[in-house]
Amino acid sequence: MSQFSSSESSQLTSNATHRGVPSRCWCGHKITTYTSTTDENPYRRFYRCVQGVKKQKEKHLFCWVDEAHLEEIRMVDKKHNKLVEDVNNIRKMMMENVEVQKKMVEDMNTKMNEKLNEIIEQELMVAKNGVEKSSMKTLLLVTVVASIAWLCGKVF
Ligand SMILES: [Zn+2]
Repeated sequence: MSQFSSSESSQLTSNATHRGVPSRCWCGHKITTYTSTTDENPYRRFYRCVQGVKKQKEKHLFCWVDEAHLEEIRMVDKKHNKLVEDVNNIRKMMMENVEVQKKMVEDMNTKMNEKLNEIIEQELMVAKNGVEKSSMKTLLLVTVVASIAWLCGKVF
C-alpha cells in the first residue's frame, strides 16, 4: 500500500460502470490499493492503477475500497440467493424424479406379481391334471387287475 499524495484525489469520484472489487484498470494495468490523504476522505482506501496514480489528469479506473467491498458483498449475496434457488429447483426435480421412479417400480412389482400368479395358476392346473391322469391310470390298473382276478376265479 502506498500513499496517494495529491489533492487531486478529491476530484475523483467512484466509477459507475465498474462493479465489485476491480482487478485491472481499463488501461490494462493492474489495480493496487492506495490510501487517500485528502481532507474529505482522510485515510480512506481506494483502488487505482499505477498509471492513474502517476498521471492523475488521465482518466483511469477509480473506486473506494469500502464501496467496492459493499458491492462485492451484494453481488455475492445475489449469487448466493441464486444458488439457493438453483439447489431448491434441483431438489424439487430430483424429488419428482424419485416419485416417477417409485411409481415405475410399483407398476413393475404389480405386473410381476400378476405374471407370477398366472404362472403359479398354470403350474397348479398342470399338476392337477397330472394327478387326475395318474388317478385315472390307477383306476384303470385296478379295473384290469380285478378283471384278471375275476377271470382267474372263473377259470380255476
Ligand atoms: Zn489505468
